Amino acid sequence: MNTTPAADARSLFASAFDATSPVWAYAPGRIEVIGNHTDYNGGTVVGAAIDRGIAVAAALREDGRIRLLSREASSAILETAADTYQEAVLPSWTAYVLGVIDEFRMRGWMDAGAGCDLAIASTLPVGTGLSSSAALELATAGALAEALRDDGQTLGTALLIEAAHRAENRYVGMPCGLLDQTVVARGKEGHLVVLDAATSRHTVIPLPQGHGFALFRSHISHALVDSPYETRHRECREVLMALERMIPGIRHLARCHPADLDAYGVTLSDALARRASHVIHEQRRVGRFLRALAQQDAIDAGQCLLQSHESSKSLFENSTPELDMLVGLLKTQDGVRGARLSGGGWGGSVLALVDPMFSDTSAERVCDAYQELFEARPHWWRTRACDGMVHARS
Ligand code: ADP
Ligand code: MG
Repeated sequence: MNTTPAADARSLFASAFDATSPVWAYAPGRIEVIGNHTDYNGGTVVGAAIDRGIAVAAALREDGRIRLLSREASSAILETAADTYQEAVLPSWTAYVLGVIDEFRMRGWMDAGAGCDLAIASTLPVGTGLSSSAALELATAGALAEALRDDGQTLGTALLIEAAHRAENRYVGMPCGLLDQTVVARGKEGHLVVLDAATSRHTVIPLPQGHGFALFRSHISHALVDSPYETRHRECREVLMALERMIPGIRHLARCHPADLDAYGVTLSDALARRASHVIHEQRRVGRFLRALAQQDAIDAGQCLLQSHESSKSLFENSTPELDMLVGLLKTQDGVRGARLSGGGWGGSVLALVDPMFSDTSAERVCDAYQELFEARPHWWRTRACDGMVHARS
């Protein structure tokens, strides 16, 4: 029987807590379509919500107890208390949820002594660059916001994005940019979400007619490797600090001109110059991609994706042989406009922008060739661009 994550979270809640959950929320995963590592550099990033996600069924409590369970991560109820959870020893996944609860308490949205019961059900693979972390945060935030409407509070989507993003930065300690939470919350059926990370403003643009995405999950989960994400984040900051000394008033690396790098890049180490070159040219590629879409030019849009991957591979050095192989195989298949790694890199997933000519046979051929070399079969599926977070009464 086909069920939805929301229905599953609600029935999990009912069986675990022996009560009906008054509220629930669902948040999808996301793909990063283009704009690789440009969000925390003040650039423009393009993403889309996908057809898999995470649901949270919830109820507020007045006794300060916090009880959590996740169908995928922990079938036993984990319990902590509103005033002691920061010291409690709990599995690491609870940090995404407790971080959001902490933001709600810190901002005065939830009473200091309030607690909650939460049940989580997901169809989203973890650690594959599809942002299960942001989906978990936004589904938690959406469910709590829905429950708090009883107190007469209306928490808008922008506030929930901010709380979820702060929870991941501050509580989990992951210095991610705003892309994940924005796309997960703001996704729109048939559209891409364009985030200007310098101002946090977003717009949506339609996908070219007849086009969608095919996603290929490599067998390397980025959560399993010691991800150098934080190293790249630090390197980009170092570049900006070096350039700031010579170019007064620049605030964001992604907003520098390639000529700035030609003129002042000599002071940077080779590695830092490569990181800077990726970010600065990727920002321009995003502009070209958006112009191509506005003109319904899916061929040039696809070229931008391929060039973005090449830049990630050689300049930002966040690709892997598995991702390179998937992109290399995909770009020769009928119906593929372009392909690239999606998300942070160092494993995870590859996306292809495809038209109706792209066949299941082609996709299986790609998987066969990958399996022959890596002795593991990638999982693949087609996805539309979907709507973002929803929250509702049960
Ligand atoms: P990504 O966001 O690309 O999936 P991250 O490492 O940022 O990868 O986040 C993955 C983490 O999010 C998991 O390791 C886990 O802690 C948490 N998570 C994701 N989905 C669930 C779930 N269904 N239940 C509990 N925790 C989850
Ligand atoms: Mg994540």
